[in-house]
Amino acid sequence: MTPILDKLTEIYDLHAARTAQFRQAAACAKGCAFCCTDAGRIDITTLEGLRMRQHLRQVPRPQRAALENAIDRDARRREKGRPSPCPFLLKNMACRIYDIRPFACRRIYSMKRCGPEQPPLLHREAMAWADEAIASLQALDPNGYTGHISYILHMLDTPAFLTTYLAGAFKPEAVMMYGRTHGIVINRMMVPAST
Ligand code: SF4
Repeated sequence: MTPILDKLTEIYDLHAARTAQFRQAAACAKGCAFCCTDAGRIDITTLEGLRMRQHLRQVPRPQRAALENAIDRDARRREKGRPSPCPFLLKNMACRIYDIRPFACRRIYSMKRCGPEQPPLLHREAMAWADEAIASLQALDPNGYTGHISYILHMLDTPAFLTTYLAGAFKPEAVMMYGRTHGIVINRMMVPAST
């Protein structure tokens, strides 16, 4: 698992290096968690989710139970179409999993302070590079899926799904209903054949 996670980090690092010039002038500041509370879905790949699940296993039991509850709560609220903060957002507006946060969080910065009427404002080049990075992440995880963080973490917590996924097998029909209702996409269908 480690070599593939290293590749995940390489994709993150390439995007960070490409966009460093833009981020220097960004309006983002410590304590602003607009992206974690109001910016909509936080899409991750199953591979990114697997790394989060590994991390969760190392968290002491009481905190882990609280995080699992937060993940469940987020999934339930979103299923009802209600706004919901990221389950990993701490009370002080810091990220509980900052070092392993997914690409969806790494790609976002804004040249203007975000607000209800002002979504994150990124450079066009940065958005194109982010699309490249997402294609690379999906290509790295060809028997996996992409979707909102809590839904993917739920899938990985389902023994039948996890066994199939870890075996490198591909059974989209097994998650068809859940996938349709939760906006899960199949990674290999999102990546052009030449990638
Ligand atoms: S994973 Fe961290 S950075 Fe990403 S939305 Fe959640 S709290 Fe924010």
